[in-house]
Amino acid sequence: MTWDLRKTLAPLFAPVLLLAATFAVLEPVRTLPGEIIDISGMALYALVAGGAFVAILFHRSRIVFPLLILALACGVLETLAAGAPNKNPEGQVVYAALCLLLPVNLVVHAFLPERGLITLHGLARLAMIGVQAALVLVVADTSFWKDAADLLHARLFDFEYDKWTYLPQPAMHAYALGFAILLGHLIWKRAPLSGGALGALIGSAVALHMVGRGVAPTLFLSAAVLAYWIALVQEAHRMAFLDNLTGLPGRRALMGLLKTTPRRYTVAMLDVDHFKKFNDTYGHDVGDQVLRMVASRMECVTGGGRPFRYGGEEFTVVFPKRAASEAKVHLEALREAIAVTAFKLRTEDRPDEKPESPKSVPKTKTVGVTMSIGLAEKASTHSDPMAVLKAADEALYRAKKGGRNRVSS
Ligand code: GH3
Ligand code: MG
Ligand code: MG
Repeated sequence: MTWDLRKTLAPLFAPVLLLAATFAVLEPVRTLPGEIIDISGMALYALVAGGAFVAILFHRSRIVFPLLILALACGVLETLAAGAPNKNPEGQVVYAALCLLLPVNLVVHAFLPERGLITLHGLARLAMIGVQAALVLVVADTSFWKDAADLLHARLFDFEYDKWTYLPQPAMHAYALGFAILLGHLIWKRAPLSGGALGALIGSAVALHMVGRGVAPTLFLSAAVLAYWIALVQEAHRMAFLDNLTGLPGRRALMGLLKTTPRRYTVAMLDVDHFKKFNDTYGHDVGDQVLRMVASRMECVTGGGRPFRYGGEEFTVVFPKRAASEAKVHLEALREAIAVTAFKLRTEDRPDEKPESPKSVPKTKTVGVTMSIGLAEKASTHSDPMAVLKAADEALYRAKKGGRNRVSS
């Protein structure tokens, strides 16, 4: 698969914009009347409740836990808001513990799998959050608070890079490590939810840094909550418009594009040749592997073509603003690229004992597939998108009839 920086960082785009906007509104919000500032905390809890509701609705209840953690952090920061957090025992332990536990929990919850809310797993996760909060409050109230404070403020390096913030060194390291882990995961998986967790991590760090500065911490924690909201919306968009198996946009996205495309475009229908036989010979899972590999070739189609999975083993490519004759050149190139690709398949029939001659037993099997392609241009005779698709389908039928592995118009 080609590495596309734009696609990789797309889940991060909205959270970063959100945080920038939060910085921009910080000053104007500070000048608002006191009553409005007082309700900012309530707005955060409402955002958390709404986010939790949406997350459960989309079967993404694992998002509920970081949302609860952010609500808890808001509650703690609001009670600490008066004065600098390093002046009293409560601040030294509770604030420092929050600074350390917040990034650790946000990162851990970004990796915990979906296991439901009112399940054994879900209740265990809730209990872990409760235990941490109780432990911090109990320790802050006992004679051990000084030892705990020393531990939480441990200076691992003498270099004074932490003088500009209240965040103690262990917390700064936890944030830096968490940032690296989540960014790596985002680049690797391109998952909107890692983008949300990363946005929330940054937002929470700024909130902690701004402790005691009026409405600022609540505002940045709200931005952290909104980062999860954005991730949920992106996830919902993905579920609605992207095909699960190949990652290509699905039929709903295709219809959306055709309805809004300019006057001229060409549509191609592509169908894998003899795919039923392929499935029967190698199995459905191998068939799925081939569909994924075909999709990755289609993502590289030239000429501005936009690939879609129409359904099953049928795909569509739309060439906005292109005539059929222009699109045909790019489709021939795509057909050729697929036909010459030797797809490596993982085989399970490996021998238990080491063969005498390792060369005699291949670890992977290579197979080839071909595709037939039919194309049609939007014309006065068939201007409706469905009519253009039908014309492309008829051309595909001609390609099949003509011997397969060819482009017909
Ligand atoms: P032709 O060259 O005429 O297109 O022959 P074909 O065998 O490809 O045509 P047909 O439409 O009869 O077969 C399509 C097969 O594609 C049938 C179905 O089992 C398989 N198929 C559809 N969707 C999927 C899928 O998501 N995964 C796998 N593995 N197979 C699928
Ligand atoms: Mg078919
Ligand atoms: Mg087929």
